[in-house]
This record gives sequence, structure tokens and C-alpha cells, in this order.
Amino acid sequence: MPLVTFGELTVDLQRKKIKNLHISVLPPDGRVRVSAPISLSDTAIRMAVVRRLVWIRQQQAQFQAQPRQSEREMCSGETHYLWGRGYRLDVVLVDRTAEVKLNGGWIRMKVPPHYDTVQRETVLNQWYRGILKQRLPKLMAKWQTEMKVEASFVGIKRMKTKWGSCNPQSSRIWINLELVKKPPECLEFIVVHELVHLHERKHNERFIGLMNMYLPNWREHRAKLNKMPLAYNHWGY
Ligand SMILES: [Zn+2]
Repeated sequence: MPLVTFGELTVDLQRKKIKNLHISVLPPDGRVRVSAPISLSDTAIRMAVVRRLVWIRQQQAQFQAQPRQSEREMCSGETHYLWGRGYRLDVVLVDRTAEVKLNGGWIRMKVPPHYDTVQRETVLNQWYRGILKQRLPKLMAKWQTEMKVEASFVGIKRMKTKWGSCNPQSSRIWINLELVKKPPECLEFIVVHELVHLHERKHNERFIGLMNMYLPNWREHRAKLNKMPLAYNHWGY
């Protein structure tokens, strides 16, 4: 991706078959990406970026101000989150199959001694996935009935820049595994957000109207999502 500098600002410039120029400030460090229509002149792009400079700086400042989780090493004593609550990790080495259990304020992880950080992380993520997988169908069923829509597929995966995604054409929805670490109402907010896309593809006034109707306090949930410590991702809605 070509890097272009505008004064002190360095941006990734992508030329695409799109109608309008789009600027995004990305996690975790506030990298700026500009997607521009192929035919737009360099001058026009420069002017558009300069016009949004204050906004870009504000976004970047927000990233810097946010509490950020330190690198995980998957060792005893670390704090890991489940549904918005912090738990201490307790790693026990065993000569058996790995397993994870919640025990009071602890997440107890039993792993074979040869497991490294990545393998331990995989074990923990499988546990997280199981928990999210348990809660998701109920939530989906409730809101699909309420909103009279039906997703053809709902999957869980780790995503770096989105909490969820929806393809309105195929009605396929993806939910970010990281949501299992946030307060439950954040998951509900994302579920409703993605399902609203089955009614309205764009984030326009109609979309916001539907959000207000189904989940009147969605802005509070969004704020909560933004306030939680960042793992590697940031809310981009
Ligand atoms: Zn959306």
C-alpha cells in the first residue's frame, strides 16, 4: 500500500473503484487509511485530508488515551476478561488434555508442560469461543423474532478492526470473539446492529432510527465498548 505524506501526517493511500473518498483512523496506533476514487486528483485528495485533519488528530488522541491491555504471556497472575469482569489466570501444568474452568475469581487453565504461549492462548480462545457459542443462539433467536429478520449464517471469529460484520445480500453475520470479554450488553448491541443491517445496509438515518427503536440505549452500550481496555481492536462503527 503506498504511503503518502501530507505535512506531518503519513497515510496509506488506496485507490479504488468507489464513488467517494473515505478516511479511516485505524487501531491500535491511529494509522490513517485513505480510500480514494481512481479518478480523484492528488490535489483533491490532499484537500480532503487537510479538511479532516482536526478530526483525524482527535481520533488518534482517543486511541492514545485508551487503556490498553499489555501483551499476554499466558502466565499465572495475568488478568483476563470475561463478560466485562477481570479474572486472574492460574496456569496448572498437567500431563493430560488441556482444559479451562472458571473458579471463583480465577480462570484455571490446565495445560501440558510443553505448551508455549501460543498454544496456551489457543486453549483459552477455544474456551472463550465455547462460552460465546452458548450465549449467541439465544440472543440471535430473541432478536431475529423481535426484528422479523433471519440470518442465514452466524459465525464467531477474531477480527482486528470490527466487532461484527453483516453481508445483507447473503444474510451472513460474523461476531467478533473478543466480545466475550466485554459486558454482555455490548454483545447484544452488536447483535442488534448486525441484524439491523438486514433491514438497512448503510449506517444512515433509517439505520439509526431502527437502532433507536429496538435498542433505545444503544449509545450507552457503544460507549461502554469503547471504554473497555483494548486488546488489539477498536470499535469502528
Ligand atoms: Zn454496521
